[in-house]
Amino acid sequence: MTDGATVRRYVPRTTGLHRDFYLHTLAGGLHLQACEDCGERQHPPRYYCRACRSKALSFKAATGTGTIYSFTVSHFTHDPGWAAAAPFGTVVVETDEGPRIVASWLGANDDIRIGTRVRIVIEPVNEAFGMLQAEAL
Ligand SMILES: [Zn+2]
Repeated sequence: MTDGATVRRYVPRTTGLHRDFYLHTLAGGLHLQACEDCGERQHPPRYYCRACRSKALSFKAATGTGTIYSFTVSHFTHDPGWAAAAPFGTVVVETDEGPRIVASWLGANDDIRIGTRVRIVIEPVNEAFGMLQAEAL
């Protein structure tokens, strides 16, 4: 598939609320949207609160910890940039604040278990995007 040259991974160009999420998260650790009216935390970012429909939202620092809610191990990828990493784990983490986020698994795939306590680690990729990764506590 390759001639030995470095194959780059696809990197999304973030815009709007997603860009805001990554700017906050890259600067100060995992951030989640918080509703100023009812306190609901949510992810992914939206223009209104999913609980009360308020538009008074801001990004607030999260603990950065949570529990594995679900996971998958990918043995094949369409993105050649990820081919060398396969098989790799992807986990859905239920953050301690409630919202679930998707993250790459840092560790052996055989160690992924639903219910494992994890910490979210951000690997900066550029000024407005970083890989969300999860490692066992
Ligand atoms: Zn609300």
